[in-house]
Amino acid sequence: MPQYNPPLRDMQFVMHEVLKVTDEFKALPKHADVDADTINAVLEEAGKFAAEVTFPLNISGDTEGCKLDQATHEVTPPRGFKEAYAKYVEGGWAALSCDPEYGGQGLPFVVNQCVYEMLNSANQAWTMYPGLSHGAYEALHAHGTDAQKKLYLPKLVSGEWTGTMCLTEPHCGTDLGLLRTKAEPQADGTYKLTGNKIFISAGEHDMTSNILHLVLARLPDAPQGSKGISLFLVPKFNVGEDGTIGSRNGIYCGSLEHKMGIHGNATAQIVLEGAVGTMVGAPNKGLAAMFVMMNAARLGVGNQSLGLTEVAYQNALAYAKDRIQMRSLSGVKAKDKPADPIIVHPDVRKMLLTAKAYAEGGRALAIYCTMLLDKELHHPDEKVRKDSGEIVALLTPIVKAFLTDNGHIATNACMQVFGGHGFIKEWGMEQFVRDNRINMIYEGTNTIQSLDLLGRKVLGNNGATLKKFGKIIGALIAEEGVNEKMAEFINPLAYLADQMTKFTTELGFKGFQNPDEVGAAAVDYLRVAGHLVFGYFWARMAQTALREIAGGNADPFYLAKVQTARFYFAKLFPETATLMRTARSGSKALMDTDAALA
Ligand SMILES: Cc1cc2nc3c(=O)[nH]c(=O)nc-3n(C[C@H](O)[C@H](O)[C@H](O)COP(=O)(O)OP(=O)(O)OC[C@H]3O[C@@H](n4cnc5c(N)ncnc54)[C@H](O)[C@@H]3O)c2cc1C
Repeated sequence: MPQYNPPLRDMQFVMHEVLKVTDEFKALPKHADVDADTINAVLEEAGKFAAEVTFPLNISGDTEGCKLDQATHEVTPPRGFKEAYAKYVEGGWAALSCDPEYGGQGLPFVVNQCVYEMLNSANQAWTMYPGLSHGAYEALHAHGTDAQKKLYLPKLVSGEWTGTMCLTEPHCGTDLGLLRTKAEPQADGTYKLTGNKIFISAGEHDMTSNILHLVLARLPDAPQGSKGISLFLVPKFNVGEDGTIGSRNGIYCGSLEHKMGIHGNATAQIVLEGAVGTMVGAPNKGLAAMFVMMNAARLGVGNQSLGLTEVAYQNALAYAKDRIQMRSLSGVKAKDKPADPIIVHPDVRKMLLTAKAYAEGGRALAIYCTMLLDKELHHPDEKVRKDSGEIVALLTPIVKAFLTDNGHIATNACMQVFGGHGFIKEWGMEQFVRDNRINMIYEGTNTIQSLDLLGRKVLGNNGATLKKFGKIIGALIAEEGVNEKMAEFINPLAYLADQMTKFTTELGFKGFQNPDEVGAAAVDYLRVAGHLVFGYFWARMAQTALREIAGGNADPFYLAKVQTARFYFAKLFPETATLMRTARSGSKALMDTDAALA
């Protein structure tokens, strides 16, 4: 059976020693009083909840899956999920980072980020039920009317009701401009929605007394394409003005998808038959309103893979220390045993360290992004708010795609550490691989994230935001450029940072002449950008650890950090050279292939 130990020490290292989040929070009136002890205490409790309540349901949830009663359209999630959710609500976890005006605890997003990393490690399928509600909360909070906020937000904040996002239809996923669900205005100001949605996560369940669906649909006079989409709030049960639950609304689960992973989460086909809804935001501006939810969800999906990378690593490490097989190439290591533990073999170490470097690098990036979200929302200086928002926007596709691709590499590597046993269900490793796979697909496939990064976020503003982040990297390079102990980290980072400018300009120029050049290079480009960002955080983490060691701190945690940074720069970071080469090879080998693909 797999195990999970919440990585509290590493979270504390990133938050308090590298990023010094509470110093940053001192500038934010809303969070000025949040101290490290409070954050650590909350995370300790959250870690217990993840390890003791939801983790034990991970394998059983995968085996059982969800069941749909065709007669009632009700869905029953796996055994134990409902009770775990009740404990989650009782513990106040849903309210952690929500607005106190609606019953929230008002803690920084950074705290929620770490809580959710642990929940994702423990049980991604379960975590998606409350996870989707956060996006619904964000969209309503940003775009709802006062009446909508008053009626619905307290229920989402307390966790009494959950939320969903209903975008996808059978004929449209990436291209939402094609969607057909209709919304007919009614005399009383409401709308009646008719259409079919598919693949809706947490789309139906019996864990709460109501579900709030956020649905994209078209008004009768809407323009074609993505400019004619509006957003509607459609509850499973109609809600009276006083908040009481009324009649069943015409929105229900027609079928459940049978899928590769996240079996414990109900992926529902949702049928709307004259379902009553209210509009969120302005007519035909639904996509912009939904983007609030989608951006939150994209960071959330990166966090799902971060969680899986961590739990897969922990289990592979324990197995590699225990499993004995063959002798070390450099001589017997375990004389008392008939063979050495497989951790002595260089390639097993490579697999383990790959997962460790991706987990810890991903954690630093994800916590940094949520710290910027806190600053974007609450910093008194408008320029800081704007800069923080721009950098989060730049980093969001990287968090989504780089962390989920790394999750794929890492969970596979960790499964490989188990040899044939990794392929056998009882060890839990193949589930991590299967569960991770969807993270590369939903919330905009990783290809779409790459196009968003290169096309919109970088070339779309002539590299202005990339330059802003480049300055942050430049400051670290300037600070540590003459420190010999940091040279093995700073030199490759400085080299890539310099290359990145030329690389981007070159792609921009080629893309200007032929847009397919952007499409051909974007996926490689995102991976290079991901390493640039990871390189920065690994250098910062090495800097902090080396300072501790130089100051006489003998905690092996710091040596482990330096060794992992060394591994990262020696074995993973250099793939940027190949990626830049393949990106530069252009679109011809892809687009002049009609005969090959005939
Ligand atoms: C388990 C699961 C849960 C989901 N949860 C939700 C949910 O809660 N709510 C919701 O609304 N949706 C949900 N989805 C849908 C998901 O977001 C879509 O599947 C995804 O956006 C891709 O859309 P598609 O499947 O229609 O693929 P398509 O859009 O048909 O894409 C097919 C392929 O073409 C590529 N492609 C498309 N356009 C381009 C382009 N311009 N350039 C390059 N490549 C391109 C894609 O990257 C992909 O590889 C879920 C899906 C699954 C499987």
